[in-house]
Amino acid sequence: MISTKLISILKKATLSKDEIVFLLSLSGKEEIEKLYSRADEVRKEFCGDEIHLRGIIEFSNHCEQDCLYCGLRISNLELPRYRMTSKEILKTVNCIVEANIRTIVLQSGEDFSYTKEYISDIIRNIKEKYDVAITLSLGERSFEEYIDWRNAGADRYLLKHEIANPRLYSAFHNKQKLGDRIHHLQLLKAAGYQVGSGNIIGLPGQTFVDIADDILLCKELDCDMASFSPFIPSNGTPFRKVEKADVELTVKTIAVARIVLKDVHIPATTALGSLVENGREKGLKTGANVVMPNFTPHPYRQNYKIYEGKICITDDPLASVGCLNLMIEGLGRKVSDGKGHSLKLFKN
Ligand code: SAH
Repeated sequence: MISTKLISILKKATLSKDEIVFLLSLSGKEEIEKLYSRADEVRKEFCGDEIHLRGIIEFSNHCEQDCLYCGLRISNLELPRYRMTSKEILKTVNCIVEANIRTIVLQSGEDFSYTKEYISDIIRNIKEKYDVAITLSLGERSFEEYIDWRNAGADRYLLKHEIANPRLYSAFHNKQKLGDRIHHLQLLKAAGYQVGSGNIIGLPGQTFVDIADDILLCKELDCDMASFSPFIPSNGTPFRKVEKADVELTVKTIAVARIVLKDVHIPATTALGSLVENGREKGLKTGANVVMPNFTPHPYRQNYKIYEGKICITDDPLASVGCLNLMIEGLGRKVSDGKGHSLKLFKN
């Protein structure tokens, strides 16, 4: 049975926090299906049928932060650490371009051994050689660094706020505060980046109200990209025994986020694909329009261990992209051949 309340909420252009919480708490199968189909309609209206692939290079797993949930945390002494050189990074960029992917995501832990100049040089080298967009995801750095990297040609920056509840944020991040994180996101916007934020679903103590706040914070920050991905426990962390996130809650969050945020890029994350078989497909059917295939080369890839059981650890990246293409065609959608810039700023 579909309630009249649900029907009226799904027709609204703007949703209140209470209405978002109502959608996240839906439990009837028919009502959840209704939510998913509305999210898919909104996705089609604002993003069309194109799916954007972003090739990710996880170039260092060193991290100075100590986030309680993350396998890269500095206190995790079990994890073998690596750093890729600029030469290795550029070689990997070439593989991504050869797979016809036009966004390069450079991600690492918070590793300050990569200086402002070193990262700027990598960005310039990539931009001189290839017609691609660059997304950085290096954690919190200085405003000066953000500006320099933007001037060198970086287009986007991904820095998830992780959890919009200030008390839980402080509990999970030894040194960091939610307010600082938000300030960094504002600095990145001011520096002219297309900015991505988002949360982790299923962290201990998190409520539906917190998740509603996560979605509303992405709206308030006017994010260009928003990622809602499930918590999966990692060995070597205090959260190793915490239960992994609920698949349905993760997919519902993606759907509600699409309905609320409308013209943002939302990924069907690798974590969702790792949580459940066909997870990325589920995400793409319920509001997501982006997938981020992993190009981190062997032997490094297995050690970018944010959580356990990550998919595609042993695969050849080109074969993975081939599978993704088939999956996307199977959904009746199309892989974009553009750079997939912000839906708010540019026409591709
Ligand atoms: N240093 C960068 C990249 C961090 S790793 C930064 O700070 O932005 C990328 C993302 O992995 C994080 O933003 C976090 O949302 C996610 N992550 C970390 N631990 C996780 C876990 N156990 N389960 C699911 N996602 C996790």
